[in-house]
Amino acid sequence: MATKLVQIEDDLEIKQRLEVERIRLRKIAGLDQPTHFHRPVERAFTAEERSRVTILFGGFTWKHEDLIRAVFQGCGYRCEKLPVPDVAAFQIGKEYGNNGQCNPTYFTVGNLVQYLQFLEKEGIPRQQILDNYVFFTAGSCGPCRFGMYEAEYRFALQNAGFDGFRVLLFKDSDGIKAASGEPGLKFTIDFGFGMLNAMHMGDVLNDNIYQIRPFEVHKGETEKVFREAVDGLCDDLRSRKSFEIEERAPNWAKPKFKSNKILRNTFNVFGKWHEHMWGKDYLNALDTAANKINSIEVDRTRVKSMVKITGEFWAQITEGDGNFHMFDFLEREGAQVMVEPIATWVAYLMYQAKAHAKEKWPVNRPHRNPQWYELKKHLANDLGLRKRLMGIAVGEKMWNFFYNRTIKHLGGITHHLVPQTDLAEMAHPFYNQFARGGEGHLEVGKNVYYTVHRLCHMVLALKPFGCMPSSQSDGVQSAVVNKFKDMIFLPIETSGEGEVNAHSRVQMALGEAKVKAKSEFEQCLKSTGKSMDDIREYIAEHLELRRPFYHVPHREGIAGTAAQFILHVNDRMNSRSKILRRSRVSGVAVPDAA
Ligand code: SF4
Repeated sequence: MATKLVQIEDDLEIKQRLEVERIRLRKIAGLDQPTHFHRPVERAFTAEERSRVTILFGGFTWKHEDLIRAVFQGCGYRCEKLPVPDVAAFQIGKEYGNNGQCNPTYFTVGNLVQYLQFLEKEGIPRQQILDNYVFFTAGSCGPCRFGMYEAEYRFALQNAGFDGFRVLLFKDSDGIKAASGEPGLKFTIDFGFGMLNAMHMGDVLNDNIYQIRPFEVHKGETEKVFREAVDGLCDDLRSRKSFEIEERAPNWAKPKFKSNKILRNTFNVFGKWHEHMWGKDYLNALDTAANKINSIEVDRTRVKSMVKITGEFWAQITEGDGNFHMFDFLEREGAQVMVEPIATWVAYLMYQAKAHAKEKWPVNRPHRNPQWYELKKHLANDLGLRKRLMGIAVGEKMWNFFYNRTIKHLGGITHHLVPQTDLAEMAHPFYNQFARGGEGHLEVGKNVYYTVHRLCHMVLALKPFGCMPSSQSDGVQSAVVNKFKDMIFLPIETSGEGEVNAHSRVQMALGEAKVKAKSEFEQCLKSTGKSMDDIREYIAEHLELRRPFYHVPHREGIAGTAAQFILHVNDRMNSRSKILRRSRVSGVAVPDAA
């Protein structure tokens, strides 16, 4: 029987027909009745409460957290960071949370409940805790449990007797708002730029500390100096005076800015931007921190296996029971840890937004199937996509620019962000970049990237128990490991228990990585034709080589810091010998510095 085709005139008609069909299907499925779930309406966090309500947050490294707290305080909020989640917090999370959650959910949810219980034990009445504290966290949607965090917090808080405790959301899609929509927490320009600086500084300092501590000559010096450096940066973030054009403008212009709001706001935006990024106070604070850190004495001839950390977002950041104190353990075992910055995750989100915009454009474009002569429509389709992509591209460029700038001002030794296109391309034969959730294709992409570029001796993926996206990656990684035969890759499932077991597995894989690092170093030393004593003697005579921010140019194909370092020292020694030979021939004296 031939079906009669119905001619549809325009998009509006499609929408109307869709709506009619949707209503029909919802009725059949019984969904035309009011849904039983309503997002809880909670008390607003209002501007008047700011002076007495403390914002709680957590989940990063202590460097990030100190800096973030300083930004909150600088913007006039009371703020406190939660302690690093421990096993007791994990157990509380299990007790009060839903069954079947992933490990970070238990740890972070339990940590909040544990802290509130601690406040209560300290003598603060429960009602006062509900009234005078709020929790600030990230929220999202998507296939992993990250989208459930907000509900999980509420559920556990309710079960623990803190019903009505307020949870504020930072959603990647919505910016900052209280779940109730009230502006107690306001996203101002000062707050935004302050947070941008805090996140970048936190990432850079975190990377630097793991590059310096394994080589420190005086035990404990790195930790102490970094604490002081972070305190100095926090002081700047906390006490820096906000730029206001009405105060900075010359007297004759002040009335103009006072009366014209648009003019005032425009100048304030650019003035604040400049102050946060190029202001004298900020740059001085960065220089002071860098000078402090550069005073640490290091010995980069120590052979360490380089271990790249990948895995789930939280598990690869936390420095406590949540990943079995893995970074401390690795350093104790003689490894150098290469950590992952949070900035990679933000870059990933922007890259994904661009890739999705391109892929979805055929359905999202304003004009579907225009005729060949409808040039205006073709142009609108084309420009619409370009405009969208350009907006994201500008965001990506700025993100990288400010990150690299922070690196430059804090010693210049931090690893730069890996281009997202490289990660997606390297992952793609194994993991589709459009498979979203958790770290998506990043775990696979990073594993391949750091192996083929020989940037590490071993990749250690920290994967929380019960994490769906990490389990997917794990399945794929067996194909990856089969393809790259010399890859040392170890996935470790982190849970509240089993620390000894996990450490022992890491120890075994690390044994192989150590052999790799040692033989690489020996080959490099052999290639120099010098003895270690000769190299050490030269280093002892040149103080700058014992400073952490001394720049050693990267050589392709060498992963170890010590191997890179002795090759560079050898170059310096050789060029010095050449100059000396020439000076002997010409009779011109050579200054001492190489
Ligand atoms: S990525 Fe995994 S561990 Fe992290 S929130 Fe999602 S499901 Fe949980």
